[in-house]
Amino acid sequence: MSANNDKCVLVVGGGIGGMSAAIEAAEAGQHAVIVEATPSLGGRVASMHRYFPKLCPPVCGLEINYRRIKSNPKIEVLTDATLTRLEGKAGDYQATVTIQARRVNDRCTACGDCIEPCPVERDDSYNYGIGKTKAIYLPMKLAYPMRFAIDPEACPGSSCGKCLPACKFDAIELDMPTKERTFDVSCVVWATGWKPYDATRIENLGFGKYKNVVTNVMFERLAALDGPNKGKLLRPSDGKEAKRVVFVQCAGSRDEDHLPYCSTVCCTASLKHACYVREAYPDSKVEIFYIDLRVAGTAEDFLARVQADQGVSFNKGKVGQILENPDTGDLTVVAEDIAGTSKTKRVEADLVVLATGLVPELASVQLPLAMTKDEHGFVVSNRPDGLMAVGCARAPSDVVRTVQDATAAAARAMQLGARR
Ligand SMILES: Cc1cc2nc3c(=O)[nH]c(=O)nc-3n(C[C@H](O)[C@H](O)[C@H](O)COP(=O)(O)OP(=O)(O)OC[C@H]3O[C@@H](n4cnc5c(N)ncnc54)[C@H](O)[C@@H]3O)c2cc1C
Repeated sequence: MSANNDKCVLVVGGGIGGMSAAIEAAEAGQHAVIVEATPSLGGRVASMHRYFPKLCPPVCGLEINYRRIKSNPKIEVLTDATLTRLEGKAGDYQATVTIQARRVNDRCTACGDCIEPCPVERDDSYNYGIGKTKAIYLPMKLAYPMRFAIDPEACPGSSCGKCLPACKFDAIELDMPTKERTFDVSCVVWATGWKPYDATRIENLGFGKYKNVVTNVMFERLAALDGPNKGKLLRPSDGKEAKRVVFVQCAGSRDEDHLPYCSTVCCTASLKHACYVREAYPDSKVEIFYIDLRVAGTAEDFLARVQADQGVSFNKGKVGQILENPDTGDLTVVAEDIAGTSKTKRVEADLVVLATGLVPELASVQLPLAMTKDEHGFVVSNRPDGLMAVGCARAPSDVVRTVQDATAAAARAMQLGARR
């Protein structure tokens, strides 16, 4: 199709945005390389219990994408990898990718025999720190590649080697080196996504101080079938059923002291979370405190559906304080009562969920070459030069918007390839 077909489209980040961009580009004939920093593709959506607005599990969509990637020889996947150098000019870049040693090779069958002898534990990053895994671990149940990894921080170079005899397949390579690869690149798609805002910085809301104050991403894991409670909605302090749940919207968002912008997905995510609670316990009570409810398009129907549920109350007002009863672990939420008759409203809760916003993953990372970021750290696309940002690397977005972005970036990559 073009002189540029020998060059690849380099996709940085293997979440839903990066996978979609690579698949679309490769299915149209381009060679695509996905550079993913963690040991597995999937990104943040891989840890969601269900997707709004249909409330289907994200597993189906991920599996389809994995299958499309696996069956397409034009897509190369590099995990534990980062782009460390990018040089050149529009349409003709040279990229250097550094691949950290995973220390488990592709002979691994994910049988799990190595877990038991490993003496070291680490915080379970997939469950946002709820619970532990061993230093040798499977990144997630639906990992791609389906292979264990050794956490370099939990098990640094001088490891004990107790996992070695447990592996029947000779898959553990403790002396695996770090590698570098170089690529000729026609364009770069930044699909590096987001991370949750650090809720310990919002001191009045008690996160990090009270065990039963959790964030929205942790709540996804508390509800998930493959989560720490195997799908039972229990609160962290004592395993009690979480039947009185309060959601605090804009926890740190639209706030000059924290994130000045709206993260756009948190309101719809909390509506989804309200459904998790109401489905788990028919006698449950959900209270949502908000500044404005911001949902868009078809999510308005979803909002109407949740509003019709008598077990869900919507309160307009900012939450000022959360207090804990140290004997029971129960919480009291104190908030403005803008639409009501009193000045403040107090609500008792088993569990409080902070709807924390999205921070661009690259906010504090120096970008190679002439890439620019906006004032909040989101990457600004330079489409003429073939340097494009998609999904939450570009702006807070839901999955539909992210996939649309990714498809547009793949189309642009083909255009650039055809022109040069
Ligand atoms: C609580 C909550 C619930 C949500 N629920 C829904 C929902 O139900 N439905 C919906 O449509 N949306 C939902 N969203 C939004 C959804 O999470 C995003 O739309 C989606 O994650 C965007 O995908 P992405 O690929 O842009 O980013 P990500 O999912 O963040 O993926 C980015 C990938 O890039 C990798 N990466 C990061 N930095 C680098 C680097 N330097 N080098 C290489 N790789 C890197 C990461 O490891 C990751 O794999 C929710 C958001 C929140 C906060």
